Amino acid sequence: MRVFSLESVIDEFEELTNDAGQHQRETLRKILEQNGEAEYLQKLGLRGRTDPESFKACVPLVTHSDLDPYIQRIANGDTSPVLTGKPIRSFSLSSGTSQGKPKLLPFTDELVQSTMQIYRTSFAFRNREYPIGNGKALQFIYSSKQVKTKGGVIATTATTNVYRTEQFKCTMKDIQSQCCSPDEVIFGSDFQQSLYCHLLCGLIYSDEVQFVFSTFAHSIVHAFRKFEDVWEELCEDIRSGVLSSRITVPSMRAAVSKLLRPSPNLADSIYNKCMRLSNWYGVIQELWPNAKYVYGIMTGSMEPYLKKLRHYAGSLPLMSADYGSSEGWIGANVNPSLPPESVTFAVLPNIGYFEFIPLEKPAGQETENSAATIHYTEGEPVGLTEVEVGKEYEIVFTNFAGLYRYRLGDVLRVAGFHNSTPELQFVCRRSLVLSINIDKNTEKDLQLAVEEAAKLLAVEKLEIVDFTSHVDTSMEPGHYVIFWELSSDATEDALHSCCNCLDLSFVDAGYVSSRKVGAIGPLELRIVRKGTFHKIMDHYLELGAALNQFKTPRFVGQSNIKVLQILNRNVIDCHFSTAYGN
Ligand code: AMP
Repeated sequence: MRVFSLESVIDEFEELTNDAGQHQRETLRKILEQNGEAEYLQKLGLRGRTDPESFKACVPLVTHSDLDPYIQRIANGDTSPVLTGKPIRSFSLSSGTSQGKPKLLPFTDELVQSTMQIYRTSFAFRNREYPIGNGKALQFIYSSKQVKTKGGVIATTATTNVYRTEQFKCTMKDIQSQCCSPDEVIFGSDFQQSLYCHLLCGLIYSDEVQFVFSTFAHSIVHAFRKFEDVWEELCEDIRSGVLSSRITVPSMRAAVSKLLRPSPNLADSIYNKCMRLSNWYGVIQELWPNAKYVYGIMTGSMEPYLKKLRHYAGSLPLMSADYGSSEGWIGANVNPSLPPESVTFAVLPNIGYFEFIPLEKPAGQETENSAATIHYTEGEPVGLTEVEVGKEYEIVFTNFAGLYRYRLGDVLRVAGFHNSTPELQFVCRRSLVLSINIDKNTEKDLQLAVEEAAKLLAVEKLEIVDFTSHVDTSMEPGHYVIFWELSSDATEDALHSCCNCLDLSFVDAGYVSSRKVGAIGPLELRIVRKGTFHKIMDHYLELGAALNQFKTPRFVGQSNIKVLQILNRNVIDCHFSTAYGN
């Protein structure tokens, strides 16, 4: 019988963070000892040394493309120690929606361990403030297809790799997070059918559900948009005890049918509750009366969905989940009562060796209200315990999965410390999104501009369902194009004001000066038909992305022909900015 104690999880975390520096040195030593035989490290001449100074002197900072040739060799069947001491038996496919193609990353037992450590740690802190009872979780989780590389190594999304482990099931039991839906739904081969069944199973167990979850908040919003369309059908299934004919995957059909009984009372109750709701406000709270919170990653590129999520959640608290990537985990949210906008992640000092590249604004630009981190100058990387509160850094990590001084491409701000480990706030992806000439805007700049313009729609009670951007250089001068899908029709006047507001909200000095002299043309706002972003998601799912890790691409490049086509074929209205008078 396993004994799981929340206090001991918290004690362990306190111990780890009390001397984060010592744990960092220890972790680096273990990583280098375990992987010392790897060709990559051998070649760099570490010669068995495991101290941070030698490590930094011998090992260069890398990005994924530097490691890709090594990863490809493993994928092609090379079983010698290439990046790690032990052979790599599976890969994770990163969602890669921003890079165009999925990246292959080593997936190892140690990654499973650190995933469980993060899950347990944040649960212990969450449960101390918002205790849940025994019951179930309505989880919108989906596994994606497994493929084999040329050399026979299994590759699938990181989340799927995790769901397939024994430890995952055990940990879910420990942290009272067992999913309402049977495995056949999670591992079903059709996302749309799985989503329908998740909703149905959630309703069948409506009294038992303690919280609602998805990896990224987008999936919860997506699920409830779907619910608005299918709620009557769901009620009918519950009333009759017969599963809708839309579920055709045999294993899923069989597993969910087993849970269904004719339950007219439950169906009536759900139906009446839905009828009483005003524009679906508070649907989660109403239908799952024992749910204590809504949980999932709500930071970074998920922020634009918060408003809708709050609407569906009603007065239930939103709790933002931990910070990590397919490459490895970084930190846990140990201050669960902070609102998603100010959530921080305490770095676990035993899951990797972390370094931080200081990003500094050149003198005179400190107050510039732009998130364009491209304007920063880079300092020398500093260690985990050397970061300074209030400063921004690009994170670099070394972990047990064969990634050494790996630049993840994320920008973080140090919000404070928990004992001696920093608490990080996610700022944005480092990569540039919009740029024509000297202008540089990131995903965060785009988000801020869209938020600013969205305020003008709020008076008309309109929402932006989703958005993306593009640079149109087919005519001289090039200009920014912003695509919006709206919840319903807006007046021409309102859209024109939004378009001007977007143009003026890109405050990056390069953009403003280029606009003033006409080196960049007027910003264009293109409104797309309802359902367009759904089509884009379907397109990525067909390519093998998982709904779990899906993030709407905030920039669509010229080479992404298919997505550009979907967008352009669905344009129903367009406006050019007159904000700069040209
Ligand atoms: P993936 O490898 O597909 O899981 O994507 C990893 C990326 O998602 C990270 O590099 C971050 O940019 C983003 N991400 C992951 N967790 C968070 C979080 N808690 N807040 C904001 N962004 C996150």
